[in-house]
Amino acid sequence: MQFLTEALAAIKRHGLYRQIPDYDPVDATHVMEGGRRYLMLASNNYLGLTHDPAVREAAAAAALRYGAGSGGARLTTGSHPLFAELERELAAFKGTEAALVFNTGYMANVGVISALAGPGDVIFSDELNHASIIDGCRLARAKVVIYRHADAGHLAECLATTPCTGRRLIVTDGVFSMDGDIAPLDQIVPLAERYDALVMVDDAHATGVIGPGGRGTAAHFGLKGRVHIEMGTLSKALAAEGGYVAGRRELIDYLVNKARSFIFSTALAPATVAAATAALRQLAVRSDLVERLLANARFLRDRLNEAGIDVAASPTAIIPIIVGEADAAVTMARSLKQAGLIVSAIRPPTVPPGASRLRLTVSAAHSREELAAAAAHIIAAGRRLGIVKE
Ligand code: PMP
Repeated sequence: MQFLTEALAAIKRHGLYRQIPDYDPVDATHVMEGGRRYLMLASNNYLGLTHDPAVREAAAAAALRYGAGSGGARLTTGSHPLFAELERELAAFKGTEAALVFNTGYMANVGVISALAGPGDVIFSDELNHASIIDGCRLARAKVVIYRHADAGHLAECLATTPCTGRRLIVTDGVFSMDGDIAPLDQIVPLAERYDALVMVDDAHATGVIGPGGRGTAAHFGLKGRVHIEMGTLSKALAAEGGYVAGRRELIDYLVNKARSFIFSTALAPATVAAATAALRQLAVRSDLVERLLANARFLRDRLNEAGIDVAASPTAIIPIIVGEADAAVTMARSLKQAGLIVSAIRPPTVPPGASRLRLTVSAAHSREELAAAAAHIIAAGRRLGIVKE
């Protein structure tokens, strides 16, 4: 096992060593660690619904009614009535015929892509797509063509020049997880139609965030019905765990029979499914949640921009601050932690070398006072590190 020691030493040498934090959550936006309270600016809990009373009560009631675990895969013994309810409500929310829940967003991407594409097919994938999409492409054993990030012109070129005897599948994050920018679906969909390609969009960071009522990227662009596969997660704005796929009923039927990550894994626990359904219902009745999230993100972004910190004008809840080298990102994240803030330092291999960054995520549950104080700390740390334009 000597290789483990060597590999770990190499990871440490490159400043890429990571450890699992020891957080003790207090509420939707605060955690304790080592007896100290921190403001969380790195969670995907976009709407703060993890701690919503109705969501927590639904989870508890489901555990009491149906048990703690599901005991089997959906196709064998693990289904329970809460799944049908959630899938019906997800389909209604997305405006599709049907929906299917997977155990994680990761498993949804891996299962769907490998079920829809295989040898002889071509997958066109944005270069900044999430790791779960990349892994799904690898598992599919189809030809994979990577197009430049959010570059519909390059995608058009790739479509025109790549011979394909089977199916074409274009897959993209809706909201990109590291930069928070939105895929140009309004340009991608017409191209897909011209080349008879399927379009799959990953709405992990778009669900509950963009589009009317938080309905995601296709809705954001008014493209309902023209995106074949709308994937998303239950693990971010929807405050639980799991992934979903929404689309035509035949697509869902096909995935039930073909997606191996769906078939060969134990179904989600009743409490998780009930929590996601309750969160979806909160989203439907509290239209102010999405507005508050986006207004909070705009507020923090504006404070940082005004102070000379370069943050992109993305209209989502993800705020990247490009720092450069991995060490600098870690130093800045540490200094912010000393000030009581938790932000993520994102380093290679998640982002390319030289593009290490802090990644802030805003929640609807943050108060303006908290965000203003956080901005002041970030600006001060940025000045010390020399990443603020004077
Ligand atoms: N897609 C994207 C774009 C993501 O950011 C993530 C998770 N960070 C996933 C898929 C995977 O979702 P999950 O965490 O539910 O497995």
